[in-house]
Amino acid sequence: MDILLAGLRQNNLKNVSLRLPKERLTVFTGVSGSGKSSVVFGTVATESQRQMNATYSAFIRNRLPKFERPLAERLAHLTPAVVIDQKRVGGGARSTVGTMTEIHPILRVLFSRYGTPSAGPATAYSFNDPQGMCPECHGLGRAVRLDLDLAIDRTLSINEGAIRVFPVGSYAWRLYADSGLFDLDKPVGEFTEREWRLLLHGEKFKLERGTYEGVVDRFNRLHLKRDTEATRRMITEGPCPACAGARLNAAALASRIDGLNLADYSAMEISDLAETLRGLGNGVAEPAIEALNRIEAIGLGYLSLDRETSSLSGGEAQRLKTVRHLGSSLSGLTYIFDEPSAGLHPRDVHMLGELLLELRDAGNTVIVVEHDRDIIAMADHVVDMGPGAGASGGEVVFEGTVAGLSRSRTLTGRMLRRITGLKPELREPKGWLPIEGASLHNLKKVSVRVPLGVLTAVTGVAGSGKSTLMTYAEGIAIDQSAIGGSIRSTPATYLGVMDRIRRLFAETNGVDASLFSFNAAGACPACGGRGTITMDLAFMDPVTTVCDTCEGRRYSSEALSHRYEGRTIADVLAMTADEAHELFGLEGLATLGELGLGYLTLGQPLTTLSGGERQRLKLAHRLRESGNVYVFDEPTTGLHMADVDTMMALLDRLVDTGNTVIVVEHELEVVKRADWVIDMGPEAGRHGGEVVFEGTPAQLVHASTHTAKHLARSLEGR
Ligand code: ADP
Ligand code: ADP
Ligand code: ZN
Ligand code: ZN
Repeated sequence: MDILLAGLRQNNLKNVSLRLPKERLTVFTGVSGSGKSSVVFGTVATESQRQMNATYSAFIRNRLPKFERPLAERLAHLTPAVVIDQKRVGGGARSTVGTMTEIHPILRVLFSRYGTPSAGPATAYSFNDPQGMCPECHGLGRAVRLDLDLAIDRTLSINEGAIRVFPVGSYAWRLYADSGLFDLDKPVGEFTEREWRLLLHGEKFKLERGTYEGVVDRFNRLHLKRDTEATRRMITEGPCPACAGARLNAAALASRIDGLNLADYSAMEISDLAETLRGLGNGVAEPAIEALNRIEAIGLGYLSLDRETSSLSGGEAQRLKTVRHLGSSLSGLTYIFDEPSAGLHPRDVHMLGELLLELRDAGNTVIVVEHDRDIIAMADHVVDMGPGAGASGGEVVFEGTVAGLSRSRTLTGRMLRRITGLKPELREPKGWLPIEGASLHNLKKVSVRVPLGVLTAVTGVAGSGKSTLMTYAEGIAIDQSAIGGSIRSTPATYLGVMDRIRRLFAETNGVDASLFSFNAAGACPACGGRGTITMDLAFMDPVTTVCDTCEGRRYSSEALSHRYEGRTIADVLAMTADEAHELFGLEGLATLGELGLGYLTLGQPLTTLSGGERQRLKLAHRLRESGNVYVFDEPTTGLHMADVDTMMALLDRLVDTGNTVIVVEHELEVVKRADWVIDMGPEAGRHGGEVVFEGTPAQLVHASTHTAKHLARSLEGR
């Protein structure tokens, strides 16, 4: 029985009907904004999760997230959905790759049985348990301390305010000034070793006015634990002095297997750890080895178990979450992935594909939103959405096999057939930005030159060190993270065009501009400007209905009685940026068009934009600047092959107006259109961290790196 979806109308969907085969891999394609997520996440996942929640008792249900019924006529034969997205994994400092993958608990059992001397039961090896955690840092591995460079100004004397933590004239300052121990007019940088130690760490002794105590000790005792603004400015975080970052107490750290303790195991790269555990030939480690092998198999063997999950990229986090499900014995589920190839080098995409097939073969339905050709090629079934974005999309333009899609006349079909070459003319560098002896993380004293005034692609397998190298470039980082602002912000308010439009309405009609804001005087009195009314019925799903009074237009009838060129303010909010530009001709609206975002309506909240849309919007204020160095982290994430062209045009434009653009990318179309390539490798983690190629794309074709091979393959259309 197929999954049946009929009459879908969520967001831009135009009465879409679809059948999705069960226990198959279905890939959704289409330009960004065409409606893929509205079907897959907005409808299938939401409805499945909503119905699953309904099966729990009211007590539990009230503690689960609430899902609203999606706009659809009929949804039948759904199976429980598991969404594996690219949201970064939170969990704070106590969540590591080891805890998240549940490999750490297995190692704790291993140590409790075979570690010598034994520290006790498995909990005695847990940094999240009082029995195992380092008492100094409570298992965080880090501790804050006074930053001497901030606390003491060595160029000044005590009288001039050298002790920045204790201001001149304060009670604490007088303890030092009146102690008779120091020359108050000598810059403290010129103190003898003895004087310096006395100032910072001098032991307590009685003085006339109080007790003498070194600056550091006094600060630690009185201020370190207090979370005040002034304190925060003076402290830095570093490894915990007691456990040196190992998080565990002395007993746990003393316990060893084959000469190594649990912290040593956790710090190893996963590939090396798997090898070491195999060498033990011990049954207890078996499940851990299995899980480690899976992580290695999806190209994450360069991670270590002690890596905090908060530092993983979205793609890394998504692949790790997948591994967890592969170990599961549940079947009959619907797994839904959002662009799982993000962050993966073409070399590793097939490993990911195999993972998806493995989930399918375990009896699950797998639905993937994806732009990567190699993943599309593996699909049993494809659904191509389009033809355009936003209001011009929302339809199924092709449904069937991959072979059928690549013969079809849809945009995706044409893109799949397209073979692109290298660009014929390269820009000349206007100078070079040197990076010397870079050695953070896995970098092996890398020295490299980044050309200025051109477009550079930084390539290499995941974990080779691309992002780490880019931290040395000191550019303006443009990523896909959220844009600040209230939940009522829209691209139009972000670019300041709503103020102009409101003023035009106000001048034309001789009323106050605030009447045209649904956050202010213009709000519909019934719904408060939300356009909808949500009833939260304690034990049921919340029910959201369109406001009767304003019919969803958000404005009061008074506001709607005024017009500009025949349109009400609500009509204007429903217009796309391109349409509005024809009417108002404002610069901010032109900018949205130039960013390829002209299809967004003026009223659409910023919170509903995709990562790629946000990334482009962040450039809005910079399109007219020059002389900047921009570093883009995978700007093609979430982009259809046709959107990549728009993105490239934008990057070209930034370069042509006098900027330097550096792009960390796997998408070979970007590499082909770069002026210069820096390829990192040869592999990931400690087997990477070197520049394996630097030069033009044409030169790269003849190199022997992974990227070179895949570039050559792509140029031949394979
Ligand atoms: P895709 O996944 O193909 O990129 P989406 O399904 O995310 O497309 O979006 C389809 C259209 O619906 C786009 O015009 C998008 O801007 C709009 N949209 C998406 N989410 C919302 C929302 N929560 N509210 C209003 N519009 C939305
Ligand atoms: P890439 O950008 O090529 O995927 P990265 O620069 O992210 O590679 O990673 C290079 C190496 O540095 C990897 O071994 C990775 O595990 C390590 N690394 C990256 N970020 C951190 C971090 N925050 N803490 C510890 N190690 C890190
Ligand atoms: Zn500690
Ligand atoms: Zn209303």
